[in-house]
Amino acid sequence: MRMTRYFLPTLREDQASAEIISHKLLLRGGFIRKVASGIYNFLPIGFRALKKIENIVRAEMDRAGALEILMPMVQPAELWMETGRWQAYGKELLRFKDRKEHDFCLGPTHEEVITDLVRKEVRSYRDLPLILYQIAPKFRDEIRPRFGLMRAREFIMKDAYSFDADEEGLEKSYQLMYETYERIFKNCGLKFRAVEAHTGAIGGDVSHEFMVLAETGEDTLAICSACGYASNVELTPAILGEKYQGEPKKPLEKVYTPGVRSAKDVADYLGLPVSKITKTLIYIVEEKEPVAVVLRGDHEVNEVKLEKILSFRAFRMAREDEILKLIGAHPGFLGPKGLKMKVIADKALEGYPNFVIGANEDEYHYLNANLGETFVPDLIADVRKACPGDLCPRCGAPLDFTKGIEVGHIFKLGTKYSSVMKATFLDKDGKEKPFIMGCYGIGVSRVLSATVEQNHDENGIIFPWQIAPFHIALISLDKTLKEEAEKIYHKLQSHYEVLFDDRDERPGVKFKDMDLVGIPLQVILGKSYKEKGEIEIKIRKNGKRAYTKLDQLEETIE
Ligand code: ATP
Ligand code: MG
Ligand code: MG
Ligand code: MG
Repeated sequence: MRMTRYFLPTLREDQASAEIISHKLLLRGGFIRKVASGIYNFLPIGFRALKKIENIVRAEMDRAGALEILMPMVQPAELWMETGRWQAYGKELLRFKDRKEHDFCLGPTHEEVITDLVRKEVRSYRDLPLILYQIAPKFRDEIRPRFGLMRAREFIMKDAYSFDADEEGLEKSYQLMYETYERIFKNCGLKFRAVEAHTGAIGGDVSHEFMVLAETGEDTLAICSACGYASNVELTPAILGEKYQGEPKKPLEKVYTPGVRSAKDVADYLGLPVSKITKTLIYIVEEKEPVAVVLRGDHEVNEVKLEKILSFRAFRMAREDEILKLIGAHPGFLGPKGLKMKVIADKALEGYPNFVIGANEDEYHYLNANLGETFVPDLIADVRKACPGDLCPRCGAPLDFTKGIEVGHIFKLGTKYSSVMKATFLDKDGKEKPFIMGCYGIGVSRVLSATVEQNHDENGIIFPWQIAPFHIALISLDKTLKEEAEKIYHKLQSHYEVLFDDRDERPGVKFKDMDLVGIPLQVILGKSYKEKGEIEIKIRKNGKRAYTKLDQLEETIE
C-alpha cells in the first residue's frame, strides 16, 4: 500500500475526549473515528488490524470444529419474551418498533436467536455436539460508553454457542473453548490470565473471564501465587459475607426519614447519639468494627470514587472533608440529590454489622441492612472491589491484586435457555431432553484496544507482528532514490504486507507517522543507502537498527 493512495488521517494532538492511551492512539493513528457516543467508524488501517484479530479468532474456532454462521443484529421481542429477558435485561437492550408496531431489539448477545435456530433444526443426539459461532456487531446501550472501542455501544464480538447431549459433553466443549481461547490470546501476542468470574446477565453457573493484564483495566483480579487461584474480585473473596456470618441479624426495616441529609440528621431523626453515627463517609471494611464503604452517589461519581478508594487500601478512617477532597467531590454532593443512596456505618448499633442505608428513594432509609446478605448486590460488589479481602479463599495465602481488561468470557449455561425455550432433542434412549448449552464470547474490537494498552511507548503503538495492520513500513527519505524504493517495495510485497511512505514529506513527519501507527519493522532508504548502498532496518519495539545490502534484505528481516 502506498501512503499517497492511502486514507490515513493521523493527528498531531490527542483528542480531549480520550482518557486512556489506547483511545488516544487509535484516534491519532487514524484507526477509528467517532460517529456518536460509543459508535465508531473503522478506517482502513483500523479495519486491517481488526481483521487480523478476527482471522486469528476464526482460525482457532474453525480448528476446534466450531462452525461459522451469521445471525441478524435485529431480533424480535417474542424470542426475548420467551426467556423473560425482554423484561430482565434492562436498558442495555435497545428496543424499537418496526412500521407494523412490532417490538424488536438490537442484539446485545444471541442466546435466544441461536436456541430458536437449533430447536427447529436439530433433532437427534447424533447431531451433537454442535458448536456454532459468528463474528458480528453487537449493540449494548452502555450507561457510560467510554475509552473508545474498549466500552463501546456498537462493537464486534465473536460469540459461540455449544449444544451437547449431557453434562460430560458440556464439560468437553467448555474445556475445548477454554483451550481455544488460550491459543487465541496467545496468538494475538497478549499477556493475559483466565480467572473465575460472575455469570451476570448471561446466566449459568460456571464461568471464566480472559483478562488482558493492564493498569487501565476496569476489572480487579485477585491472584494467588501459592495455589494458582485467580478470580475477578466481583466474584470473590467473599470476605464480607463470611466475616459477618454468625453475627446477629435483624430484619430489614424501611423508615421514613424526611429531610435527612447528613449523618447528624440521621442520628437526630433516628434518635441515635450523633457521637455514635460517624461523620466519616468512607471506611474500609474491617473485622468486627462495623465499618464499611459508606458513600454511594450516582453512578458516575461513584465510579470515580471507587477507583480512588482502590488506591487507598491502607487508608482507614478519614474525616468527611478529607474524603471530599480525596474524591474531588463538592460538598453539595452530600445533599439528597447527589447522594441518592447513602450508607451510614452505624456505630450506634455497636457490635452489629448492621447499617443504616439510603433506600435509593427520596426520604427513606433502611435500618439493619446487613452487607453480608445480598441485600444490595451491586453495592456489595462495589465494596468488594474497593476492599478485596487479602487472603486466598482456597489456600489462605496472601492474594495479589492486579487490573485486567475483560476480552473474553465463557459460560456453562446448562439448560437455562433450552428448557424455557423448549429446545429439545431425542436422546439415545428415545427420550426428549433439553440441550445442554455453553456460550463463549470474545470482544474482538476490545482486543484491539487491549493490545494497544499493552503495547505502546511515548511515540505510539507497537503492534505484535501477528495483528499488525502492516508488517513493514518502507520509508524513502530521498527523492533521488525513487526507483530503488519502488524496486524494494515490489520485492518486499511478495512476502510481507508493506506500507510504503512515498509521500513528499519531511523525514520527521514520516518517522513520526510510522512510529505512531506501530508497524513492527521500518525499512529505511536514506543516507546510508546513498553513501554505502545499505538499507537501514529499524525494529519499532526496541529501536534497534541493522544495515543490509539489497540482496540480503529478506534474510536480514527473517
Ligand atoms: P463488561 O464486564 O466489560 O461490561 P460483559 O461481561 O458485559 O463485559 P459479556 O457479556 O461477557 O460482556 O460479553 C463478551 C465479551 O464482549 C466481553 O468479554 C468483552 O470482551 C466484550 N464486550 C462486552 N461489552 C463490551 C463493550 N461495551 N464494548 C466492547 N466490548 C465489549
Ligand atoms: Mg457489560
Ligand atoms: Mg464483565
Ligand atoms: Mg462478561
